[in-house]
Amino acid sequence: MIQADVVIVGGGASGFFAAINIATFNPELKVIILERTKEGLKKVRISGGGRCNVTHAEFIPQELVLNYPRGEKELLGPFHQFMTGDTVAWFEERGVTLKIEDDGRMFPTSNTSQTIIDCFKNEAKKCGITIKYEHVLKSIKKRDNIWCLDTNNGSFYANKILIATGSSIKVWNLLEGLGHAIVTPVPSLFTFNVTDKRIKDIPGVVAKEVDIKVLGTHLESQGPLLITHEGFSAPAILKLSAFGALELAERGYRFQIQINFIKIPYGDCLEVLKELKYPMAKKKVIKFTQFGLPKRLWQQLVLASGIKAHVIWADASKPQLERLSAQLTKAVFQVKGKSTFKEEFVTAGGVDLKEINFKTFESKVHKNLYFAGEVLNIDAVTGGFNFQNAWTGAYIAARHISNTE
Ligand SMILES: Cc1cc2nc3c(=O)[nH]c(=O)nc-3n(C[C@H](O)[C@H](O)[C@H](O)COP(=O)(O)OP(=O)(O)OC[C@H]3O[C@@H](n4cnc5c(N)ncnc54)[C@H](O)[C@@H]3O)c2cc1C
Repeated sequence: MIQADVVIVGGGASGFFAAINIATFNPELKVIILERTKEGLKKVRISGGGRCNVTHAEFIPQELVLNYPRGEKELLGPFHQFMTGDTVAWFEERGVTLKIEDDGRMFPTSNTSQTIIDCFKNEAKKCGITIKYEHVLKSIKKRDNIWCLDTNNGSFYANKILIATGSSIKVWNLLEGLGHAIVTPVPSLFTFNVTDKRIKDIPGVVAKEVDIKVLGTHLESQGPLLITHEGFSAPAILKLSAFGALELAERGYRFQIQINFIKIPYGDCLEVLKELKYPMAKKKVIKFTQFGLPKRLWQQLVLASGIKAHVIWADASKPQLERLSAQLTKAVFQVKGKSTFKEEFVTAGGVDLKEINFKTFESKVHKNLYFAGEVLNIDAVTGGFNFQNAWTGAYIAARHISNTE
């Protein structure tokens, strides 16, 4: 049996961040991390394709929260306490500089997640934090205001505990046993599987800016679209997968999407096509791409409109141009499943946010029980926002936990 002031369950992103901050705010406290694996921080290591997309260069809390399909309302207050700029400063104070990429994602200047891992492990050592690797939490009990945590490797007692176990079904079950409500977990951040003649032969093609709707729902998004071997990916799709995580799961990942490849309404597009008949009269329709579309995508959409490769603009009929306008502005594709987006994925669902005090990240069900990171029903679109949730929650919980007055 081991006694500590604070036991943190989970040696991942939020667990390490919380432990280091608790020990920094109050060096008197004995802090222990219980971690299931041999070395922890696994997701940090593989994050952002091995580069760790630490946060995002969005410095206005009201704007930042818009990236969280679950947690938007609840995170506004916390972001006023610990924002992306604070993350940058926190790492800089510890010798880790971050850089901003064109799309706003922020990475360590070193371009490797190892820098973040080294930073966490060195800081934890400096702060005297005990890390118990290969300790799997098995049960949580509370007796006389003391928490008792049983693991496969012994029991731990603590005044305060922080659960930072990410998306662990087993831990969610334990928390349900403590009286917490768990919102059913479903995957978020995935790509769409589509088998369709129009995209079959053109993987790798990117449409720079498209509008997409999921038919029969209110779901829609904008952004770049990537055609892959399996179907569609890139931000326009990932955003839909995040904001539609629950709805799309309910539909068994089978639904129709409508894409406007050129962000121009059908009627306006048709007018442009009709006008093109004169200056382009003798040229083949398939040959010269329009609206800045990638050439190979233009070719596929022209063929899908029933305009054969030899047809010149002068001979293109009204119905053909109408079909082409429809392909360009409201092309419908059948989605038949999802694939994992290798760079980043998260789980929607977790501890119900109604049961958390967002000024402290303490449970409203049990005193001295705190949560941070993905264990909560919070998740974000891709771009560094999921880690920012981990840092913000862990920091605020740490501040409150370390205050022993
Ligand atoms: C491939 C991939 C890439 C990603 N890239 C990015 C990115 O670049 N940017 C971004 O913002 N987000 C990214 N994410 C999401 C991000 O990694 C998570 O949102 C974040 O790690 C959540 O932090 P956490 O501390 O809540 O959970 P985790 O980091 O998952 O840590 C949870 C820890 O708890 C431990 N644990 C679980 N159960 C037990 C138990 N019973 N007993 C003891 N320990 C336990 C686990 O072993 C783990 O170490 C990525 C995710 C994946 C899968």
